[in-house]
Amino acid sequence: NTKVYYDDDADRSQIDDKTVAILGYGSQGHAHAQNLAESGVDVVVGLREGSSSRSAAESDGLRVATPVEAAAEGDIVSVLVPDTVQPAVFEQIRDSLDEGDTLQFAHGFNIHYNQIQPPEDVDVTMVAPKSPGHLVRRNYENDEGTPGLIAVYQDVTGDAKEEALAYSHAIGCTRAGVIETTFQEEVETDLFGEQVVLCGGVTSLVKQGYETLVDAGYSPEMAYFECLNELKLIVDLMYEGGLEEMWNSVSDTAEYGGLTRGDRVVDEHARENMEEILEEVQNGTFAREWIAENQAGRPSYTQLKDAEENHHIEEVGRPLRDLFAWSDDGDEDEETAEAP
Ligand code: NDP
Ligand code: MG
Ligand code: MG
Repeated sequence: NTKVYYDDDADRSQIDDKTVAILGYGSQGHAHAQNLAESGVDVVVGLREGSSSRSAAESDGLRVATPVEAAAEGDIVSVLVPDTVQPAVFEQIRDSLDEGDTLQFAHGFNIHYNQIQPPEDVDVTMVAPKSPGHLVRRNYENDEGTPGLIAVYQDVTGDAKEEALAYSHAIGCTRAGVIETTFQEEVETDLFGEQVVLCGGVTSLVKQGYETLVDAGYSPEMAYFECLNELKLIVDLMYEGGLEEMWNSVSDTAEYGGLTRGDRVVDEHARENMEEILEEVQNGTFAREWIAENQAGRPSYTQLKDAEENHHIEEVGRPLRDLFAWSDDGDEDEETAEAP
């Protein structure tokens, strides 16, 4: 029985008199900074010299300093630059952390895989909204919340968890509900989910389904509709009411066909591969590979990204999405506009 924390469980005196340094003003950074500031918390945004985010932060009415200055001022230092640059940024600000300060993250990768070794005299916590930053911001503005996770890795003050809850309150997460996890669990489930189901699994399923139809002589446009476009309708139903609502909404034929054929596609071999991928996450193989890939200047990543962009399904999809009215351009524009 997971405990869910709401507004009433947070003690705002844990944050109201503190200064929060937000390092980075991207997806998460801009949302945390603005929500905290509107909640009455003193915020300073830390950005490198010549940062392209500087004008956005300033025009949003926030105080901007260098990462080192911000970290020195902050009682809570929230590290919201990309995960791959966090170790370098941490090396710069390490000596600016005072005893009893909090080093805070929105994802546990660098702590869990020892890419950042925090000083022993600071609290180390996580406040991770389960949503992209622009929604964290929009929900807050609409008096709505964004579900989130908190975790405590190191607690020297004895208040680490209370402070993380207060921070969650100030960015709007306790309005929706917050659960406590560990850095290890957050990292391992996050990497597994994105690799196996959300980003990796689903794109491979879509591409293979599409290729199977096109190779058999069906029109690419039909294959695109069936294997990619309609996925959204199915996912929306699952999001609303779980698998049950989805099964109840499709035809009996679709339901019978799906129930009898689904496990033939994602079969016991797929399950073994999932277990292998989980092991690579757990034993650090994936982390080492990704760190080395970054150190080498991302050669494979660049190549794979390029191949994906040039996949046939993308060449078919681009003009199709422009031709049909289903594509919700408005929403996309809004996201680009809000996420600096
Ligand atoms: P972004 O990629 O949006 O961060 C961009 C910001 O980081 C910009 O302000 C940029 O400034 C700054 N930055 C980039 N490179 C450097 C550098 N070398 N030195 C200093 N500043 C730099 O990050 P996200 O918000 O996506 O991610 C932040 C954290 O939140 C990560 O730990 C991530 O895992 C986590 N998270 C992200 C979620 C999401 O939906 N995006 C969801 C939940 C957690 P500049 O203009 O100077 O480049
Ligand atoms: Mg400090
Ligand atoms: Mg992730």
